[in-house]
Amino acid sequence: MRLLIATLFSVLVSLATVDASAAPLAADFPTGLQVPAAARPGPAFDVDKATSAYLALLSPAQRERSDAYFEGGYWVAFWSFAYGLGVALVFLATGLSVRMRDAAERVSRRPWLSTLLYALLWIVASFVLVAPLSIYTDFLREHQYGLSEQPFPGWVADQLKGLAVQLVLAPIVVVAIYAAIRRAGARWWMWATGIVFAFNILTSMIAPVFIAPLFNHYQALPAGPVRDAVLSLARANEIPTDHVEWFDASRQTTRISANVSGLWGTTRLALNDNLLKKTSLPEIKAVLGHEMGHYVMHHALQFSVYITLVFGVAFALLHAALDRALARWGPRWRLRDRADPAALPLAAAILSVVLYLAGPLVNGIVRGAENEADAYGLNAAREPYGFAMVSMRLSTYRKIAPGPIEEVLFFDHPSGYERVRRAMTWLRENPSPGFAAEAAGH
Ligand SMILES: [Zn+2]
Repeated sequence: MRLLIATLFSVLVSLATVDASAAPLAADFPTGLQVPAAARPGPAFDVDKATSAYLALLSPAQRERSDAYFEGGYWVAFWSFAYGLGVALVFLATGLSVRMRDAAERVSRRPWLSTLLYALLWIVASFVLVAPLSIYTDFLREHQYGLSEQPFPGWVADQLKGLAVQLVLAPIVVVAIYAAIRRAGARWWMWATGIVFAFNILTSMIAPVFIAPLFNHYQALPAGPVRDAVLSLARANEIPTDHVEWFDASRQTTRISANVSGLWGTTRLALNDNLLKKTSLPEIKAVLGHEMGHYVMHHALQFSVYITLVFGVAFALLHAALDRALARWGPRWRLRDRADPAALPLAAAILSVVLYLAGPLVNGIVRGAENEADAYGLNAAREPYGFAMVSMRLSTYRKIAPGPIEEVLFFDHPSGYERVRRAMTWLRENPSPGFAAEAAGH
């Protein structure tokens, strides 16, 4: 353990001295709307040709890099999963988990308190053990592909803030679920499912108010054409807020994004500075139309319900598998029973197997909502060129034209190809003369 920490420390020090912002790989499209000739309205307009013309805006080198980043992500997800199983094995087979439980029980014999202390130790130890992987996937790789310009110390500070948030929130869930395990017997997994649902709702309410501001500075969007357009779109779609903010996402990432977040009175619209800096007004309107679609169709709540169902099945499977695993390995690893917090790494490992396998299902649930928001956004914002352009911009981190099976397995959003095609179809069916004139003027 000491060796591991020493190695880690030396890696951290060497990383801190690397000038991370020197990577000259970022190759976003230039600011402003591009409309390929084949996408302009006219008698020869053809959805497929217009879509191909948009895809051709990407140079072969850009497309190659986009594919490499996204396809590499499939392996990153797999190795992160496998690495997590390895970490669980370290906790169990080295006796680390049992020692942490014993230490927690020496402080207090009260089950809820010793479980809480165990959870805190487990979160911190996991953070340390997973750090080498996080440094590669979330720092080095993002810089390699020009998706982040954040210097290493700032990145570490953000990671530590994330750890602090975890230390506050995660033990609540762990303690509640272990209380259910102790009291509800074989039905603990039903209680656990309800606890996950309640926790989901709680975090979506507090995240925009208490968590997001820890990582970024949010401020009111100054008066001007962007604010006017966003507020007009909000009024037209009855979004109950005049709270429009922007935030400095460029600290961490070069990606463009926006969101409508909050529940019951905490609603706010937030645009990131990359979106404001890199895109044109029609693109911003297209993005906000999409985000408002999520809000109007209650996608956050809907997703909480779906994900709770997924967790319900996952917990039921965990219930069956955990008792068997404990019968088999419990004595060797000195784990007592399922109410023993020292068995948490084992339970987490089993749960991670189920959730990894459920990945395509969860992707499908999210992708379904994203498709709905795309359809809503096009009708709300009526900016097919903006929508097509911004869909092309997202190729910096999402493969533009995957195969059908690839899309089902790995995509939690429609691909750029699908989105541009949707925009061009919309354009074909909405050929208003005023719109055509406006398009020509962009
Ligand atoms: Zn979305």
